[in-house]
Amino acid sequence: MLHVSKAPALFVGHGNPMNAIGDNLFIASLNNLSKTLQKPKAVLVISAHWSTPFSAISLHESELLYDMYGFPKELYMVTYPAKNADFLIPQLQNIIPNLRVEKRALDHGVWSVLVHLFPDADVPVLQLSINTKFSMKEHFEMGKALEVLREEGVMIVGSGNVTHNLREAVLGDKDASVDAWAKEFDGFVKDALLTRDFDALIDFETSQRYAHLAHPTKEHFIPLLYIAGASKNDEKSRFVYEGIEHGNLSMRSWITGE
Ligand code: ZN
Repeated sequence: MLHVSKAPALFVGHGNPMNAIGDNLFIASLNNLSKTLQKPKAVLVISAHWSTPFSAISLHESELLYDMYGFPKELYMVTYPAKNADFLIPQLQNIIPNLRVEKRALDHGVWSVLVHLFPDADVPVLQLSINTKFSMKEHFEMGKALEVLREEGVMIVGSGNVTHNLREAVLGDKDASVDAWAKEFDGFVKDALLTRDFDALIDFETSQRYAHLAHPTKEHFIPLLYIAGASKNDEKSRFVYEGIEHGNLSMRSWITGE
């Protein structure tokens, strides 16, 4: 029998799209991780940048979605010719009720991370949409249901941010002084992950006084619920990166089952 090692699950705070081509400590942390990761059979990504009022997976062409505006032209020249992990579709259809298969290119929440994790684009990819009909609990439960894929060597990646409020962010200054609300909310998430208090994450809107500031919309938080759900009690986890940029954008990234 072929031995397949279990793949980890990873939440990445993707932050500024320029992280796809830049050079900083956050990118270095992904590059370092890339060197030590055992290559998974496939990667399933849940990105903040694809929400649908149903559950869908995408079949992508080699072209990318450049779903960000006003950046230097180098960013629109990034390529990432990964194959589709279409062999996962039957299994995903068993796990996810009424799953639709759509044609859609990978968005920047996916490729800005994968260019660093698997720079040779040699791991097949599928993207799962965020179903806007789901409650926070249902997102978490879906992550839990997807954990079985990890057993078969499929890595699950959630791409969002622990705090994300672009109206409050100091976009012109990466090193702007950190807002107290962002520090508090980021600390809450850190503690919840360290103590595996995932109920606290699910209930963040009621338990956290700064929830509305940290997430005026929830799409950047939701991918974290998938990764928490896909994490097992008995496995080790660690923060791949910690830091708050632009005054309140948390880049906290977390891996479980490495
Ligand atoms: Zn984003």
